[in-house]
Amino acid sequence: MDGSAPDRRTGPVVVALGGNTLLGKQGPWTVDEQTAAIERTAREISEAIEDGYEIVLTHGNGPQVGTLLLQQETASETPQLPLDVLVAETQAQIGYLLQQALDNELTDSTDFITIVTQVVVDGDDPAFADPTKPIGPFYTEEAAAEKPFETKRVSTGDRPYRRVVPSPEPVEIVEGDEIANLVHRGNLVIAAGGGGVPVVRDDGLSGVEAVVDKDTTTRLLASELGVGTLVLLTDVEFAYVNYDTPDQRPIREVTARALRTHLEAGEFGAGSMRPKVEACLQFVEEGGDRAVITSPDRLLDALAGETGTQVRG
Ligand code: ADP
Ligand code: MG
Repeated sequence: MDGSAPDRRTGPVVVALGGNTLLGKQGPWTVDEQTAAIERTAREISEAIEDGYEIVLTHGNGPQVGTLLLQQETASETPQLPLDVLVAETQAQIGYLLQQALDNELTDSTDFITIVTQVVVDGDDPAFADPTKPIGPFYTEEAAAEKPFETKRVSTGDRPYRRVVPSPEPVEIVEGDEIANLVHRGNLVIAAGGGGVPVVRDDGLSGVEAVVDKDTTTRLLASELGVGTLVLLTDVEFAYVNYDTPDQRPIREVTARALRTHLEAGEFGAGSMRPKVEACLQFVEEGGDRAVITSPDRLLDALAGETGTQVRG
């Protein structure tokens, strides 16, 4: 060993699991529904591991953290917990279900471990004044108008509204070195769940009320680990141009430059596909080999370069 950086081509792959890969699209998000979705995703992940890939997992938490927040607000007998604590709860909830599903699938004795992960954000981040991160259930326009919290139209269909909360940029993963040590020793790690628990660093660390975007934190983790490949799994096989129109066309192999042109043309939904595309661009522009957007059932083919949106510098 000469202590050089890990080989970007053969080293670990960072794989982010979107909220939609962990539960059904619009709920009601019972534990049975979550377990079934997680088991489906775990089968695809373990196939990749059995095929020889080293996988580091991250995941989203938009539906789960929004649900926990509503539970706080509707339970009058117990004190309310702040959003940072709820993000930590979702890391345990989703980490637990993922660990169990993956351990049941994997034939060797290696077990996944979940790391409660904090991310430092800037307390003066302008995002605190402009909530953009959709969490929790989807609402009709009429239902959204009655809610005592801020909602935004975030998709199409009859329930296009969701609650939105601030989503500051992650600047540092507090447990980054420890995660890297575990990964480079060959441990199977689930980290930075829900974008990480947002904290500010003053004299010490303290939690702030926000939900960091998991695609952005996943990109930061992938860069810090020095991996070659970043994969963002969601409920679509590709990022598309002219999405949701008769002219919809999948983006397959694309350079960062061409993808940036699509981004600037407004092709990607704010708070959904846009943060994924931005994460992919930043990853390859900072030296990563490739970034991939696809769905869990296409993971193996996408790792082989055969499907999904494949972004290269
Ligand atoms: P995740 O939970 O995986 O992060 P998101 O809902 O945040 O999922 O992002 C995936 C969604 O992005 C898709 O289901 C789709 O509705 C939406 N989307 C917006 N623009 C595009 C686009 N140009 N191509 C593909 N999907 C898009
Ligand atoms: Mg998302």
